[in-house]
Amino acid sequence: MSNCVFCKIVAGQIPSTRVYEDDLVLAFMDIGQVNPGHVLVAAKPHVENVYALDDAQAAAVALACTRVARAIRAAFAPAGLSVYQANGAPAGQTVFHYHVHLVPRHDGDGMAFTWPVNNPPRAQLEAHAAKIRAALA
Ligand code: AMP
Ligand code: ZN
Repeated sequence: MSNCVFCKIVAGQIPSTRVYEDDLVLAFMDIGQVNPGHVLVAAKPHVENVYALDDAQAAAVALACTRVARAIRAAFAPAGLSVYQANGAPAGQTVFHYHVHLVPRHDGDGMAFTWPVNNPPRAQLEAHAAKIRAALA
């Protein structure tokens, strides 16, 4: 847990671009995103996967995902939105701290821009997050 990147983000030890927060949930921009508005919705406690969520955490994540999804739609009007999670390395999970991906999908290649994974322009992330936050208000 002490080496968990998402625990460090929740604790503020690693900076993140936050879009939503409550007692149980933190939502922030995915730095690996290639689609504008890709958000991760994470449980705040270190819960490894869907199987380990308690009912209150499950409900809180679902509500946060719903609210942020609506805000992404309002901010970016994507043609579609993928909502998914991975559980276990064979399923593609790389960070073993429970989180849901909200990925706007656009027609065609649909990408307003791309950036190198793990090297996003912070100002661009912040600009997207500000639009989502405004739509949540
Ligand atoms: P998964 O592969 O489903 O476990 O998803 C892990 C996600 O976390 C990937 O989409 C990464 O781009 C993202 N990610 C990893 N490190 C960070 C970070 N420091 N800040 C924001 N997102 C991150
Ligand atoms: Zn963690």
